[in-house]
Amino acid sequence: MMLPKSDFHIHTHCSCDSASAQIQDIVREYRAHGFKQLGISDHLHTRFNLPDIVIARQEYDALGCDADPDLHFGIEVTCATAWECEKIARRDYTSCFTIDVEGIPFRTITPIDGVMFGGPTGGPLQIDLTDEEIRMLKIEYVIGGVHKPNYTRLAPEPMLEDFFNQMCYLIKHPIIDILAHPWDGLAFWSSKTLLTKDRSEMRFDVYRMIPQEMNDELGRLLIENRKYAEINASIIDVQGMPDDAIHAILAIYARWKEQGVTFTYGSDLHEPHYPKDRLKRFDVLIREYGFKEEDFVQPKFRKY
Ligand SMILES: [Zn+2]
Ligand SMILES: [Zn+2]
Repeated sequence: MMLPKSDFHIHTHCSCDSASAQIQDIVREYRAHGFKQLGISDHLHTRFNLPDIVIARQEYDALGCDADPDLHFGIEVTCATAWECEKIARRDYTSCFTIDVEGIPFRTITPIDGVMFGGPTGGPLQIDLTDEEIRMLKIEYVIGGVHKPNYTRLAPEPMLEDFFNQMCYLIKHPIIDILAHPWDGLAFWSSKTLLTKDRSEMRFDVYRMIPQEMNDELGRLLIENRKYAEINASIIDVQGMPDDAIHAILAIYARWKEQGVTFTYGSDLHEPHYPKDRLKRFDVLIREYGFKEEDFVQPKFRKY
């Protein structure tokens, strides 16, 4: 039997990446595997993705999910930068589609994941969603995650600092309820993998470099701001991720638990169907770190 009975991090086909599940399949399949509380959480990197969230909400309502007290409509927002949010708002981003990053050319044709490069290093951060939009879309809870650097150098040391700063920002931000997948993506962004497409460059060793003081400070902030940390099952599915990196992350979560941090659980579904094998493997792992069913809670939902 699966450990957690609730999953608040599930992407539908309305997420702007490879996610492709239909809401009705999610509900049927997760319930068949013993989950009770479920939350839909599609991506909003910047307001460029807002039309997708509107569609997700329409489908959710049309399927009558609103009437089920154990189904919830959430969102996963990205820690974006003020610089890119302004560019998106002005629809002035095409100049960022072709850019040299540390001597390697980067090409894109869309700001769908935000504006990846070209901004001022370490500039102000922003979440591109307003309270008014949260109310309009009847969003019950907000997950916030680090998904890209704040235009820092693609190397372990600056990236550790960058991820830490972004997580502090997310935890303190009033609209965020849950800190998504802490430290996830750090190995990817500590290398130039995005530019070179060479996954062998990924710096998995960075997970052994995370200073204890940073984690203790994040744990303290989570408790002080009454935010949840998410245990995210996708960490075991990162291509090429060595076991010691996975264990380094799980050890951080276990230490937070001792500190008194409260957790939610997320499968981070990005596939058309329930990820049975992955969740089974993850279940075994988190038990090893002392996590039990009662360690996973549901967030406080906004009511409409
Ligand atoms: Zn995420
Ligand atoms: Zn996600």
